[in-house]
This record gives sequence, structure tokens and C-alpha cells, in this order.
Amino acid sequence: VAVVGRSNVGKSSLLNALAKRPKLAHVSKTPGRTQLLNCFALDDGTTVVDCPGYGYAAVSKQKRGSWQHMIEGYLLGREQLRRILVLVDGEIGPTDLDLMLLEWTRANDLPIALVATKHDKVKAARRDRRKREVAERCGVEPRDVVWVSAAKGVGIDRLADLIRGWLAER
Ligand code: GDP
Repeated sequence: VAVVGRSNVGKSSLLNALAKRPKLAHVSKTPGRTQLLNCFALDDGTTVVDCPGYGYAAVSKQKRGSWQHMIEGYLLGREQLRRILVLVDGEIGPTDLDLMLLEWTRANDLPIALVATKHDKVKAARRDRRKREVAERCGVEPRDVVWVSAAKGVGIDRLADLIRGWLAER
């Protein structure tokens, strides 16, 4: 299972929450510091891969190109990948880059799951509507959006169950 999403969307925090190890992946307040594909071996023998955030403006165009090349090559070529978790920020909704990434995964027939982050940052009264908006913009059904909060632990067990299910698929 690979985790992709723009810088600061909450990839490292989600990985730490899934692994129940707060310092496993480096959580950074500075976007763009995760510049490599980081593989984490979990106790049950599965591997989670943290991909560099895309769309970080302060790195050179050339470097952005080589990141993109690395991630795309990995996502297209790695046979063992069961799902790509595409993270969108639940507080701000999908960005144009998120939508481009989704389009690219669809064009290449890659298996994705849409995960919205930062559930705790949206007021309870607005969550239903936000979820519908995120789903609509991303072209999926609201029930297919897994909305998590790494900070509060919301949705983490559900996502872990889903991941176990995907890894068990043959
Ligand atoms: P990455 O760049 O995609 O790996 O994102 P990080 O995991 O480093 O998170 C970016 C920022 O968002 C950090 O300041 C995190 O503390 C914050 N963050 C991540 N997930 C959550 C969440 O569920 N709730 C809240 N309130 N903040 C979060």
C-alpha cells in the first residue's frame, strides 16, 4: 500500500497513526522534506510506502521533475502494490494537483482509495456537507471517502481494516 498526496496533507501523521508509533515517519511542519520513497516494515509483515509530497513550490523545477518521475515509475511499475491511498486535505478540500493525480491514476487504471485527512479540523455540523463536496469533486461516492484524523484517531481502525482486506485480496 502506498500513500500519496501533496506536501502537508498529513501522510506522515497518517502512517504514524496506522502503525501506532508516533515517531515512525517524520512529521514535519516544513513541507517538502520527505524527498524519498520511505518504506516502513510493519510487525505483520506488510510494508507501507510514504511517497514524497508533490506540488511543493520551493524546490527547483528540475527536482520536482525527478520526484515525479520516481513516484510515477514506482506507482506504475510496482506489481506488489495493492492500493494507492490518495490523500486529500479534508479541511481545505481537493486541490487542482490532487485532481490531476486522481485523473492520472484513473488514466493508468491504478487501484486507489480516497482518504480525506484532518477530520478534527472541520466542525461537526459541516462534516457531512464537506464529505459530499470532496466526493463530488473527486468523482467518487461519499461512502468511498475514508475520512480520518491522525490527531484524534478518527477512522484509523476502519482504514486499517480496509488495508488488511486489500492485502488479503488475491
Ligand atoms: P505530510 O507532509 O503529508 O507528511 O504531512 P504531515 O504528516 O507532516 O502533516 C502536516 C501538518 O498537518 C503537521 O503540522 C501535522 O501535525 C498536521 N496534521 C496531520 N494530520 C492531522 C490531523 O489529523 N489533524 C490535525 N489537526 N492536524 C494534522
